Amino acid sequence: MKSYDLIVVGAGSGGLAAAQRAAEYGAQVALLESGRLGGTCVNRGCVPKKIMWHAAELVGELGHSGDYGFDLAVNGHDFGELVNRRERYIRRLNGIYAKNLERRGVHSLAGHAAFSAPRVLSVAGEEYSAERILIATGGAPVVPGIPGAELGITSDGFFELERRPARAAVVGAGYIAVELAGILQGLGTAVTLHLRRDSVLRSFDDILQQACMEGLAASGVRVVTGFVPGAVERDAEGLRLTAASGESSGPFDVLVWAVGRRPRSADLNLDLAGVQCDARGAIEVDEWQETTAEGVFALGDVTGHHELTPVAIAAGRRWADRQFGGMSARRMDYSNIPTVVFTHPPLGSVGLTEREARETYGDAVRCYRAEFVPLFYGISENKPKARMKLVTVGSEERVVGCHLAGPGVDEMLQGFAVAIRMGACKSDLDDTVAIHPTAAEELVTMR
Ligand code: FAD
Ligand code: NDP
Repeated sequence: MKSYDLIVVGAGSGGLAAAQRAAEYGAQVALLESGRLGGTCVNRGCVPKKIMWHAAELVGELGHSGDYGFDLAVNGHDFGELVNRRERYIRRLNGIYAKNLERRGVHSLAGHAAFSAPRVLSVAGEEYSAERILIATGGAPVVPGIPGAELGITSDGFFELERRPARAAVVGAGYIAVELAGILQGLGTAVTLHLRRDSVLRSFDDILQQACMEGLAASGVRVVTGFVPGAVERDAEGLRLTAASGESSGPFDVLVWAVGRRPRSADLNLDLAGVQCDARGAIEVDEWQETTAEGVFALGDVTGHHELTPVAIAAGRRWADRQFGGMSARRMDYSNIPTVVFTHPPLGSVGLTEREARETYGDAVRCYRAEFVPLFYGISENKPKARMKLVTVGSEERVVGCHLAGPGVDEMLQGFAVAIRMGACKSDLDDTVAIHPTAAEELVTMR
């Protein structure tokens, strides 16, 4: 049986980051992957999604070209060509990942891996052992257990579409539901978004929920609230979705389930390794990414919290720094993680929402808000508003939350996240000279 210093299961964001960093420290590393290098983010997540988002954003900008004096005629959109170009780019990334692994001496082994004994993994009929095993197997989309659910697709199926559907149902209220609804509607599909409650993105600050609901409506997405999916059927006209209450929606050409993801832990034979999961199947880890089995660690989506690529990467690198780089105190800090939802306009958020801050700090919370028409729309008839909120705490007004909705906030948030992490107070923002004319300057001029 071949033995390594480290075996990593899953070559996604977290697994790749940890394997490469450990190899840079001189560890003998094997990386086991059943699919394509890069995992969810590169193949079925962030990267293809962002390319599709850019396409839909472009439609919005083209819509304003007349305001700027252009007389443009858009004669159509070749969805298939966009998909081909996107997939060619992703194949190139897959190749770059393979070369990077080779250059660092990481042994990349293809196939589905599962434990056959503690600290022994079996893949493609061979067994491999290691002093340390890191599980980074990510997650998979949830499909509700209702009759006809298999007639729908998930985000994985969305990225397999070669033609743009004319009519689409999206079910869900989280990141994926609003992002895919926005992309499809932007590219010309008539989208109906089904929410089981009354708002999207309910864990986000109120101003972002409101901005997202308004953005969806302005782009033409039909939003149906209070709709708990009960069954899906296909008839001669297409797919129809029936609510538990009996209400019917449709017909549609495509139905996309976007109701959350579950950790991919069920087919790893974790019981043979002594690794425990919670009720959702998320591998239980402590603050050092240690599982309940000695020498076995887990990080990224399979641990079930903060399911974001940079979180998995940061956790992977810090873990390798500690295990192989001698940095004994290095671990992932899961607070103040910035995040962007790629809707139209995009939304950005870091730190506490106003509601969370008030629950923790009560009357010590003071919020600052801005609502304005970005200059880009100044000469347009149609004037969508941008919104911003700073949540501060205490007499020193330490900034504990920053919530942004509007064009460009996806690129704007990163720097403010650094400031918040460093403990910035409102006066630090006020003392920073503004950059004019931008939307970002609103954040340093709020009163
Ligand atoms: P993954 O990237 O999922 O990698 C796990 C890998 O393990 C996979 O390649 C899988 O094939 C492999 N694997 C699983 N089981 C086995 C096994 N038994 N044997 C061998 N290999 C196995 N995050 C952002 O930060 N920004 C975004 O814009 C964003 N957009 C997203 C859009 C969509 C549609 C989706 C679905 C996700 C998005 N995410 C985004 C989330 C992000 O993709 C994940 O948080 C990230 O990929 C998690 O990394 P990971 O390493 O934990 O797992
Ligand atoms: P989310 O957890 O973000 O949202 C799923 C939502 O769907 C739930 O919050 C719930 O909202 C609703 N829902 C759950 N079950 C049902 C049901 N049976 N019927 C109707 N609605 C239901 O999951 P996603 O799948 O959107 O995304 C998974 C994760 O991937 C995200 O949490 C995020 O971490 C990551 N991601 C990040 C992106 C980014 O960074 N831009 C983009 C895409 C994904 P409610 O309770 O309000 O009904």
